[in-house]
Amino acid sequence: MSKPKIGFIGLGIMGKPMSKHLLDAGYELVVHDLVQAAVDEVVAAGAAKGVSPKDVAARSEVIITMLPDSPDVQAVALGENGLIEGVSEGDVQIDMSTIAPGVAIEVAEALGAKGVGCLDAPVSGGDVGAINATLSIMVGGEQALFDKMMPVFEQMGKTITLCGPNGAGQTVKACNQIQVALNIIGMSEAFVLGAKAGVDPAIIYDVLSGGYAQSRVHDARGPRMIKGDFAPGFKARFHFKDLNIIMKTGNDYGVPLPVTSLVHELFAAMMAQGRGELDHSGIMTVLEDLAGIEARTKQE
Ligand code: NAD
Repeated sequence: MSKPKIGFIGLGIMGKPMSKHLLDAGYELVVHDLVQAAVDEVVAAGAAKGVSPKDVAARSEVIITMLPDSPDVQAVALGENGLIEGVSEGDVQIDMSTIAPGVAIEVAEALGAKGVGCLDAPVSGGDVGAINATLSIMVGGEQALFDKMMPVFEQMGKTITLCGPNGAGQTVKACNQIQVALNIIGMSEAFVLGAKAGVDPAIIYDVLSGGYAQSRVHDARGPRMIKGDFAPGFKARFHFKDLNIIMKTGNDYGVPLPVTSLVHELFAAMMAQGRGELDHSGIMTVLEDLAGIEARTKQE
């Protein structure tokens, strides 16, 4: 496989820039999404249009999916007019969405029975990482297939790691999402406490940037949090989805996750307030409500 024909399904915040990097690198692309405007934009950049997952699979050798959740990947891969109806033996399927490890294994087994090699390859690095092709990509599957797909991964990411067999990439992503969620909650509580005690959140941000509390999440989200700019980014409802995956995985393996479960409930409150389309850093609004203040720099 020198430069395989690639199918790309799911052209949202992440999938659109990722697919464009593949076009820029000279790969032939067939794309599909439920949103016509997203398809039109990537077609204008040089891709061909696929009418269904089945059609995309029939016209590609490597099929990448970047979809919201486990049921979406199940439907696209295994449902009616799904990939499973269009694939040929020797094709490769790479799912880069964040889904339950068990569903990644189920899809790999079903497509594997048709002679398709499967990798779960969720990512970290956010919309900025997708735009700059600097994503961290955590992969589950076989070493030989991982090695073969490395040139494709390298167009989208910088840190690309084989974590173990099918499902292992999703397990590592679940671990990643614990740390990111706890980081954002910590930042939220710090900004709210400081602001209610009378300190400008912008000063808190600047001081913490130079000390032990600095983190990549702090750097990426802090400046927007203190302005109350919660446009996504990473939608809060997706982080809630990930926390559901994490709690189930903890339950499956008998691992108590006491602090993550509390964060899960705070995200549940955010969903109940109808704020799921905000960026996940908008969880600060829930902490603000509890404290009865807005921890944000005054806008002009
Ligand atoms: P998004 O909602 O912006 O994009 C998802 C796209 O999938 C949409 O364009 C939607 O129309 C399309 N889609 C849904 N069902 C479909 C179907 N049946 N057939 C074809 N297209 C379909 O989401 P996103 O932010 O790009 O996230 C995608 C995945 O990546 C999620 O699993 C998310 O958790 C993960 N992720 C996101 C980020 C981020 O910062 N946004 C970072 C890391 C991982």
